[in-house]
Amino acid sequence: MSATSAARVEVRPLADFVTLRVGGPAEIWHVDDVAGVREATREPFRVLGAGSNLLVADDGVAERVVRLGRGFDDGRTFGSDADVWLGAATPLPGLVRRAKEAGLSGLEGLLGIPAALGGAIAMNAGTRYGEIADVLVEVEAFVEGEVVRLPADALRFGYRTAHLPEGAVLLRARLRLTPSTPERVAAALAPVDAARAGQPKAKSAGCAFTNPPGDSAGRLIDAAGLKGVRVGDAMVSPDHANFIVNLGHATAADVDALLAEIQRRVEVPLEVEWRRWGR
Ligand SMILES: Cc1cc2nc3c(=O)[nH]c(=O)nc-3n(C[C@H](O)[C@H](O)[C@H](O)COP(=O)(O)OP(=O)(O)OC[C@H]3O[C@@H](n4cnc5c(N)ncnc54)[C@H](O)[C@@H]3O)c2cc1C
Repeated sequence: MSATSAARVEVRPLADFVTLRVGGPAEIWHVDDVAGVREATREPFRVLGAGSNLLVADDGVAERVVRLGRGFDDGRTFGSDADVWLGAATPLPGLVRRAKEAGLSGLEGLLGIPAALGGAIAMNAGTRYGEIADVLVEVEAFVEGEVVRLPADALRFGYRTAHLPEGAVLLRARLRLTPSTPERVAAALAPVDAARAGQPKAKSAGCAFTNPPGDSAGRLIDAAGLKGVRVGDAMVSPDHANFIVNLGHATAADVDALLAEIQRRVEVPLEVEWRRWGR
C-alpha cells in the first residue's frame, strides 16, 4: 500500500471488490475527495462502484481503478430531507432503509440492489417497480479535470443504461423523494421484497442478461433447460436462471464460457447486462 497526498494506492485482485468474486489484479486508487479523484484520473482509469455489475478478466485490468471512499458516502448522515445531495459511494441498501424510516417515498423499487449510488446511476439500476432515474434531479461529476453539474435529462437514461460524458466520475447526486409515511413506504416495499424472495444468495453479479423486448431472459434460459448447468465453479443458478453464481473458485474464463453456452442454446439473442473489464 502506498499513499499520495490525496489517494491511497494498492495492487489487489479485483475479485476482492466485486460481488461475483472473480477478477485479477489492478492498481486500486482509494480517494476521498476531489483532489484524490483529480490525481487518480491523470492516467487511464476505470471507476468502481460496489462492483455488483462487473465481470473482470482473470488478468485484471491495466488501467487505474478509482474507488470512491468514505468522503463520498453519506449513508450515515442521510436525514429526512426529501430533496437531498448524496455522495456517489453511498450504498443503496442503507439508503432505501433510511428513506423508509424517514417516511420518504421514491426508492422502493431499488430494494435489494447492492449498488453504490454512482453505479446505480451509471447503470440506471431498477426493477419494474421503479428505477433510479425516477428520483434523480442532477449529478455532480468530475469531467476532464472540472467538477460540473449535469441535469438528469443530460444522462439520457434507458433500460439499465445511462449516457455519462466520456471519462466522467460521478461524485454526488441530488435526489428528490416524496414525503410520505414509514407505513406507506413499507407497504410499497412489500411487493418488491416478495418479488426478490427467490433470488439466489450465492455470489453473483445479479442478472447476467438484459430482458429481450417482451420476454424475460430468465424464462428463456430456464425453458432451454439450463438451470444448474456448470462450467468449472460457474453455474446457472437453480433458483433463478438469469443468475450465474460463483460456487467458490470460478474464473472469468469459466463465467465467459457459460455465458457463451447460454447464448448458443437460447434461440432468442441475449445481451449480457454486466460491464466487462479487461480481456
Ligand atoms: C444480488 C444482485 C441483485 C441485483 N439486482 C439488480 C436489480 O434488481 N436491478 C438492477 O438494475 N441491477 C441489479 N443488480 C446489478 C447491479 O447492482 C446494478 O447494475 C448496479 O447499478 C451496479 O452498481 P455498482 O455500484 O455495483 O456499480 P459497479 O458494478 O461497480 O459498476 C458498474 C458500472 O458503473 C460505473 N460506475 C460505478 N460508479 C461510478 C461512478 N461513481 N462514476 C462513473 N461511473 C461509475 C462503472 O465504471 C461500471 O461501468 C444486482 C446485482 C446483484 C449482485
